[in-house]
This record gives sequence, C-alpha cells and structure tokens, in this order.
Amino acid sequence: MNHLVKTIQENLAKVQEQVSVAAQSAGRRSEEVKIVVVTKGQPLETIQAAIFAGAKILGENYPEEAYSKMMRLERHEEIEWHMIGHLQTRKAKIVVENFDFMHSLDSIRLAEKLNRLCEEKGRKLPVLLECNVGGEESKGGWMAHEERLWSDLLPVVETCLGFNNLEIHGLMAMPPWDENPEHTRPYFVMLKKLQDFLSRNFPSVDFSELSMGTSVDFNVAVQEGATYVRIGEAIVGSRQKNLSNLSA
Ligand SMILES: *Cc1c(COP(=O)(O)O)cnc(C)c1O
Repeated sequence: MNHLVKTIQENLAKVQEQVSVAAQSAGRRSEEVKIVVVTKGQPLETIQAAIFAGAKILGENYPEEAYSKMMRLERHEEIEWHMIGHLQTRKAKIVVENFDFMHSLDSIRLAEKLNRLCEEKGRKLPVLLECNVGGEESKGGWMAHEERLWSDLLPVVETCLGFNNLEIHGLMAMPPWDENPEHTRPYFVMLKKLQDFLSRNFPSVDFSELSMGTSVDFNVAVQEGATYVRIGEAIVGSRQKNLSNLSA
C-alpha cells in the first residue's frame, strides 16, 4: 500500500474514533454521523488515495476544480460527490450534472436555477439550506444569527418546497473561524435550535440532516447534533492554495 493511502487511512480511522467518542458522550449513535472528506485544493493523487483509504463522500467547494478532477479520475460508482461551497448561479449546471448532494443552497435564485436544470436533466437534487449563524456579511447563507430573523426563513422554505426537483434534507452552517471549538459550540447549538424551529413549522418536511463541523471542531459539532461533518486537513493534509485559486 502506498504511503499516502496509509496516512489517509490512519487519519480517517482516528477521525472515525473521535466521532464515535463524541457521539457516545452525547448519547448519540456514531452511525448517525457521516464524514464528508473535503478534497478542495487537493491534487488528484490525494483524492485517489482517499478513495483507496475508504472515503465514501467527497466534498468540494469550487465547481470547475471539482469537475476537472472528476473527469481525470476513474469512475467510482460508490463515491458520492457533495458540493459544500458557495455556488454562483452560472455554475449551477456543473453541480446538477456531476454532484450527488448540495450542502450550500443559499438563495432562491440559485434554487430556481438548480430546479430548472434538474427538470431538464430528469433528476432530483438533495439539498441543505445554508444558514449564516455567525451573521458574517462575507459568508453565504440565510441570515439566522438572531432568533428574530428565523421567521424570515419560513417563506424561503415555503418557496423551496415549490421546487419539485429539489429535496430539502436539513441545514448547513459554517460558523466564524476560531481555533477554540468551545467558542464555536454556541453556533452549532443555534443551528440545532433553528432545525427544531423549522421542523415545528413544517412538520411534513425532513430537516433531519445537520451539516456542521470541520477539522478543528467536529467533535463539538457531533456532540451538538451534526449528521454530516466536513473534514479536510485532518484527513487529507494541508491544501495546495494554488489549486483552489484556479477557479476562485
Ligand atoms: C474547506 C471547508 C471545510 C473543511 O475544512 P478543514 O479545515 O480542511 O477541515 C469544511 N466546510 C467548508 C464549507 C469548507 O469550505
């Protein structure tokens, strides 16, 4: 086995173990938590190695970068590709044609476009609504950092429910960066509360998935209810900045 595969396999096992410990400490089952291995900014051989090491879900931020890597990889039917970054409407087609899941739906305009492209393609796209729990202007997602803003999300959900080719599965958040995961915990708690609020208001809609937590804070995210953790560097190592700039 090559060195890179071995390293990634060990990292993945370590992360799985930590997820399992965090889940148990919160009275949850570790099977409820799926690991998205984030491969943005990683070269092809790293992605290949991650697949050999047992990664099942790969997360990418930049549609062109992801597409170019997908085209050069052998086809792996068992791998799911998840879009986790902000998506410009004009690049929506790349996602509809190549991705299995969208974590970062953050506008009605984008939802409309994705829905129309899915219609043409004859497919459904599972999506999460990205919520801006930190209130940072520089980030995507519907503003949700104060409870009084949550009712503004009701018409958003209502509109999305009218898009028949999009399937809402839950919420996603990318809180303000902080090296101390305890500082990030309140944002995870807030996303969980927002999930409860939306579930109460739309009892027939499935909001069960919560995508939250990265390399630095996934333990805390799992304790607070994450069902998807999005982990890059802790599994596949540091990124090559030039790759992600390619399509920025
Ligand atoms: C890059 C990225 C991640 C992974 O970050 P790491 O620090 O490498 O774990 C997760 N989510 C989103 C939205 C990202 O852009």
